[in-house]
Amino acid sequence: MSSLGMNIHGDVRSASEFKQIVDDGGRPYGPYRCPFCEVRYEERCIVTDCVRAPHFKLPKNTSHRGSCNGEAGEVVPSGKTEPSIEPKRTVVGVIELPEALVNRRKATKVRGPADDGSGTPPDDAEVARRRRIVASDRTISSRYTTSQLQAIISAYKKLKSHAYEVAIAAGLTKGTKQYNESFGKTLDARPLDLYGQKLTYGNAFQGSKLIPNRKERVYSGSGLVRANGDYFIVEDEDSWPKSKTEHVHFSLKIARLLVPDAPTSHQRALEELERHAAAGRSMRWHAYGLAVLRDERFELLIDSFDHICWTGIYKR
Ligand SMILES: [Zn+2]
Repeated sequence: MSSLGMNIHGDVRSASEFKQIVDDGGRPYGPYRCPFCEVRYEERCIVTDCVRAPHFKLPKNTSHRGSCNGEAGEVVPSGKTEPSIEPKRTVVGVIELPEALVNRRKATKVRGPADDGSGTPPDDAEVARRRRIVASDRTISSRYTTSQLQAIISAYKKLKSHAYEVAIAAGLTKGTKQYNESFGKTLDARPLDLYGQKLTYGNAFQGSKLIPNRKERVYSGSGLVRANGDYFIVEDEDSWPKSKTEHVHFSLKIARLLVPDAPTSHQRALEELERHAAAGRSMRWHAYGLAVLRDERFELLIDSFDHICWTGIYKR
């Protein structure tokens, strides 16, 4: 099992980045190969959603060439390869969850300029050269990452049902202190890195019960969508915090335009919001950002369609 692969254009990416391209509505240009020895790979959980993290696998009865083991790093003189750093995975029962919200990155290239992958397979020296290139590239991560909040929200939902099952299996009753503790513990055990903020699935999310955090968090709420000039505004149904007497209005502000080269998924999200606004529809949303108190109301400015999703958002 390997977390890194290469497409027909020689783009080296993690399996979760290739999944991202599929999720964005783009073409990943498989079939994939090992970026180092160019042996063919099969993809897993990239095109289809499954409980495992996206990864690559050698087809049955095949192996890497020479000293290659499919991972980046130095080759030690004995001809054996140094144990590679095992990709750390978040495993919940059999469910694997994204561990980090990250920016999209450019692919790493390891082939020479004239090499299209059709020539002689890489020898040990070439495999070693490629492994060093990838090992020295700090932007490539073997972690299960995503640049879309939507992937994190669907993982969060799976984890919450798992947390419920764990608590019930332990004989706890929903609503009790012990149940809540068990539930929170399951969520807190799963790391979630938001652009470098080291959080967990237990503390990265926030609803209207508490005053918004001073740092970026993932908020959720619901309300009517309306278009106002260059923005969509979603005034939340609740005031924040809901329970206190000094509650404050909370609204989402979403730019109504796309950056150049925006992925297809952003185009679709924008069109869907236009339709919601035109029809005066309400939506349940999750959004990432910094909620700022402005004119006695909290405003969450959404700077990218990667940072918002809603219930019933187009199915890919
Ligand atoms: Zn290989």
